Amino acid sequence: MTNSSQVALLGLDRTEIAALVESAGEPAYRAQQLLEAVYRQRVDSIEQISTLPQQFRAGLAQKGVSIGLPAIEQRFVSQDGTVRYLIGFPDGQSVETVWMPEGDGGEAGDGSEAGDSASAAEPSLGRTGEDARPHTFWNAARGWDRATICISSQVGCAVDCQFCLTALLGVKRNLSAGEIVGQVCAVLKDQKVSPPEDRINLVFMGMGEPFLNYDNFMKAVRLLVQEVGVAESRMTVSTAGIVPRIHDFGEEPVRPKLAISLNASNDELRTRLMPLNRKWNLEKLLAAAGNFPLRHRERITFEYVLLNEVNDAPENAKEVAELLRRMRAKVNLIALNPGPGIDFSTPAAERVAAFQQVLIAAGIPTFVRRPRGRDIYAACGQLKRTVALATMPAP
Ligand code: SAH
Repeated sequence: MTNSSQVALLGLDRTEIAALVESAGEPAYRAQQLLEAVYRQRVDSIEQISTLPQQFRAGLAQKGVSIGLPAIEQRFVSQDGTVRYLIGFPDGQSVETVWMPEGDGGEAGDGSEAGDSASAAEPSLGRTGEDARPHTFWNAARGWDRATICISSQVGCAVDCQFCLTALLGVKRNLSAGEIVGQVCAVLKDQKVSPPEDRINLVFMGMGEPFLNYDNFMKAVRLLVQEVGVAESRMTVSTAGIVPRIHDFGEEPVRPKLAISLNASNDELRTRLMPLNRKWNLEKLLAAAGNFPLRHRERITFEYVLLNEVNDAPENAKEVAELLRRMRAKVNLIALNPGPGIDFSTPAAERVAAFQQVLIAAGIPTFVRRPRGRDIYAACGQLKRTVALATMPAP
């Protein structure tokens, strides 16, 4: 650690912070004070850590050590309560992070949503299941009983899915572990909430492909569990299907739940929609999913974006049912969220419902995700640093 190099505390784990404290000649208990300040109190600057002696604070600043809390550059607030944050880093790059009060009616990551308890025997529980749930923890003052934060893992994305706006950016760079955790800390601070007292779910479903930034993503997960205080059972990561990393992920002692973006019912279609299918086709992907070591009562979520008249026919649903036949799976259907430059259209609600019914009849719990924040371009597949909303056609 030289004077000139900038070191951010956010992103450092217990061992690394202990080493920093030791090298400064400070007593070991200062490490805990730093961890508390960074990850629980979420201070902006070292100056604010009043538990530390002034001399230590000045010494850290002199070494170029900062907190590294990223800046909220803009907020877009949807009619449905969703907030899309534009979060900026010192090098000028930025990502989007989405706050969704009350969850999204589909995968919430906390294992307690209706999505986990519904089955073929309860077909009526589809999309309205969440609303039917008793609001035991309802917080009247706030108007929500739980919230989900959707986190980005890369600036842009390299995967090139044909229906996704983020793909149009290409990938600019990976986010560091600190930048991934930093999004959560910045949003929690802005919303004035704290896990575990407040029920917060995290989904790694923002910009980027988490499994192409695997080590930083996993370090962020561990920091979120150990230091920020979000249980692993309240987190879900979604991958476009990076097969070797699915194997690695299964071996992690601490890990979020797994979601896989399926999006097509056969190889020909999937290669057209998701070119990465050439490298990791359905056979390889489903073999990895089938071998994935699931925890008690855990299922793999398969996401399926419905594109009108492209992949949304009942025959496609039958093919999906066949693919997932022997799998402990559930399916989240997402009707396409449109965007400029995306050459697909959104199916009508009846087509979505018909698709859902085929899967439910085949015994696969299937849910339709309620779009969140479509009016502010915050919904799935719409994250693209859309600063000038006025230049975009109305969704
Ligand atoms: N790269 C990871 C994480 C992003 S998750 C992955 O692909 O899984 C984002 C989810 O939104 C994915 O399931 C993706 O298939 C879906 N999606 C992408 N574009 C969309 C769009 N235009 N409308 C609805 N869903 C979309």
